[in-house]
Amino acid sequence: MKSLQDSVANLKGVGPKRVADLATLGIDTVGDLLTYYPSRYDDVTPVDLATVKDRQKVTVQGTIVSEPLLTRYGYRRSRLSLRIQVGQQVIMATFFNQAYLAKKAQLNEQVTVMGKWDARRRQVTANKLLTAADEKKKSSGAVYPVNKHIRQVTLRGLIRQAYDDYWSVIPTLIPTPLRQRYRLLDRQQMIHDLHFPKDAGKAKAARRTATYEEFFLFQLRLQALRRARRQRNGNRILYHNDELKEFIAGIGFELTGAQKRVVNEICRDLREPYQMNRLLQGDVGSGKTIVAAIAIYATISAGYQAALMAPTEILAAQHAEKLSKVFEGTHVHVGLLTGSLTAKQHHQLATAIKDGSINLIIGTHALIQDNVEYANLGLVVTDEQHRFGVNQRQQLREKGNNPDVLAMTATPIPRTLAITAYGEMDVSIIDEMPAGRKPVETRWLKISQQSEALHFLEAQLADGAQAYIVSPLIEESAALDVQNATDLYQEMAKYFAPQYQVGLLHGRMTGEEKENIMHQFKDGKLQVLVSTTVIEVGVDNPNATVMMIYNADRFGLAQLHQLRGRVGRGDRQSYCLLLADPKTDEGKARMKTMVETTDGFKVAQRDLELRGSGDVLGNKQSGVPDFKVGDPVGDLKILQIARQDAANLLMTPHWDEQDDNQPLVLYLQRHQLQTHFD
Ligand code: ADP
Ligand code: MG
Repeated sequence: MKSLQDSVANLKGVGPKRVADLATLGIDTVGDLLTYYPSRYDDVTPVDLATVKDRQKVTVQGTIVSEPLLTRYGYRRSRLSLRIQVGQQVIMATFFNQAYLAKKAQLNEQVTVMGKWDARRRQVTANKLLTAADEKKKSSGAVYPVNKHIRQVTLRGLIRQAYDDYWSVIPTLIPTPLRQRYRLLDRQQMIHDLHFPKDAGKAKAARRTATYEEFFLFQLRLQALRRARRQRNGNRILYHNDELKEFIAGIGFELTGAQKRVVNEICRDLREPYQMNRLLQGDVGSGKTIVAAIAIYATISAGYQAALMAPTEILAAQHAEKLSKVFEGTHVHVGLLTGSLTAKQHHQLATAIKDGSINLIIGTHALIQDNVEYANLGLVVTDEQHRFGVNQRQQLREKGNNPDVLAMTATPIPRTLAITAYGEMDVSIIDEMPAGRKPVETRWLKISQQSEALHFLEAQLADGAQAYIVSPLIEESAALDVQNATDLYQEMAKYFAPQYQVGLLHGRMTGEEKENIMHQFKDGKLQVLVSTTVIEVGVDNPNATVMMIYNADRFGLAQLHQLRGRVGRGDRQSYCLLLADPKTDEGKARMKTMVETTDGFKVAQRDLELRGSGDVLGNKQSGVPDFKVGDPVGDLKILQIARQDAANLLMTPHWDEQDDNQPLVLYLQRHQLQTHFD
């Protein structure tokens, strides 16, 4: 019995070498091959010659109205000319060195000719001639993404063969009612028309079906996973409500409405018996940390341990310092676990973690090293979760006994997309800033205006403010990046001497050196901090009010927004100065966006429009798959519909027992295990 799970080795002419070659494209089975869709189609639809420009590629259709004239010259060289009536006009088609076509080109024959349009001579310098008998071949204008191992024609041939041999076992996955509702093709037709469309219209219709199918299956997988997770046992974290309220009352400020809402969402999850898997999104400065602290407090007061994982040592240290203050006088005991501990320190801490005397463990990925054992881990919080690989997050979740997971990120993703990207996570969003925040004023200056920028900065310093100066990003080389920052540091130190002290921070420094500098900056011993982008995430000094970024156009929008988030954290008006002479339209658009808005969600939306979803979400890490045909931004409507349809199906009692749905059930069984979205 044939199956789409059959190895491609079952196809004629596919031996071990070709199997290996196909594997480089991610194609192992016949099913893989059939769903390896074209990236585009060479346009084979006849064109209107009135609109064609000189030297443009064209396809024309018409009747041969002259006896073909074949001229041979030189060694194996020839020219074949014939007149074709196309609509109301007659044009000339010329083929070079394809003498064999003379037999095919009969007077009065209907033909399709492809080639390049020569407007002056009104002729096509043609390379392809198709007669009615060839019509079938014409159907494939499909162009596939290939690599050096496999040629376009080879792949095309294999796909044709796979289709001819296997079309009858292609099951339709989308349930009939849905297919009818949206007038979608059945799967055999869809796959046929994606690879061998008769015309552009057919290809388009097939893509529409494929897009829906892709989104529907993706959502079905995510939501099935989520349902499975909800049935799996986690911990019931039964904290004492009054005690938690008391803690919240002691924080020193009133939570914003948005903070209260997400605290409720999180606390509900904590109490439930299933494992929480929640994404907490909020712009920089929106107050995620205190929300996490509340969740941590609840967890620990219920007798469990909590862990907080940060992407860098600076951030981990900063969290530890901040939270130690927040939890002063409570039963929360903080331990900072980083890679820079001595063996002895590490051992002591590990012991305290194991016996439970330390109940809040903060650190970098050292937290998930195998030699750390927890007494009773109930909650894991990850900060800037997109910076961790999927595997690291997975490892952390497997620590202890299915701990609840709260992933915080300050990289806003538009809500619609977040729901989609993190389909099996629940999403909480803080969409409100604490009262009294003044939006950061952002200015874009030409690099030639550097001295103005520095004067402005001096005036601020004279007023008691502090400033960050970010050196240009050199992506090609970390060493150059550091060199650059060092040069800029020396320049600035000279410029600001003797009134103001300047410090330097970069990624090649040890954790201790970095912390040292950060402390000096926070304590006001340094007024200016020159830095590479190591300060990008989370570093907190409310007295810093100027962020100056050299060659700002080298940075992406998300990164610029993060950098800007380092200022505007106190009561004073803050400023962000972008020094940039962007060369591209996109670069200019980025600068304009930064000037126009401080709303992280708007920045993200703009970023999405400028770059496309793949780049923004960072496929590999976010767990958002590389969709083959669908575009989660351009096809958002379809995505939302498919999402709802998947949810409805899963909620239908006994849906998985209906005959019509068996291919889907099988599909889910097959793909569930491979779906390691965090
Ligand atoms: P995030 O982690 O979202 O970037 P933080 O949690 O670091 O933001 O909060 C930024 C600053 O705002 C901190 O100094 C914090 O104490 C303060 N803050 C948080 N929530 C509130 C609030 N509701 N009212 C006033 N200040 C707040
Ligand atoms: Mg934070």
